[in-house]
Amino acid sequence: MHAIEYVTVKRNCDKAKVEAEIDHRVSMENWEEGGGLYKGIRWLEGTVYPNVEEAERALEELDRGSYDNLAVLFRDVRGAKETAKMKKIAEQKESTMRARDSYAESQSVHNRKSDTITCPKCKSRLALAYLRGEHCPLCNTELRSNTFVLRMEKYDDKLKELDKKYKEEKRKAEKKIEKKAEIKWRIKYEYHC
Ligand SMILES: [Zn+2]
Repeated sequence: MHAIEYVTVKRNCDKAKVEAEIDHRVSMENWEEGGGLYKGIRWLEGTVYPNVEEAERALEELDRGSYDNLAVLFRDVRGAKETAKMKKIAEQKESTMRARDSYAESQSVHNRKSDTITCPKCKSRLALAYLRGEHCPLCNTELRSNTFVLRMEKYDDKLKELDKKYKEEKRKAEKKIEKKAEIKWRIKYEYHC
């Protein structure tokens, strides 16, 4: 199995010690393969990322592949409080998800009174008693109407928009504590076990 792990350490940590600890942890995990980390950790100074999510995105982008181990700096703004605005957006997201789920449930082909359904694409007649899920088992076509598909897309768009809004509000809240936030290392390491 391929494992990817993230860990946070203090900026002024003893890098050799941290590396030795991770190396030890890895060798305990992959004792069957023998040995610890395949490569040393690349400590990338320079950019301080505004939060842990951005740091992890950067780690992914800077990753050279084949079990690269690397670390970047970030501001630990995880202490930022959830604002009333954020809470409201989270609630809107919850209710949109509930509406989406109940709509999907109400539109299930299994609610139909007939015993069979005809696939709109391959025209196979499918017995509902034997059908699992909402797709044609022969050609994988969605058996619910186009209206259903479009409405689900609308729900998904709304959810994406709410996610974006939430992130924007979160960034605002984080910015307020940014100056006081401690700068730390986010490390990514990879191994086979
Ligand atoms: Zn079909």
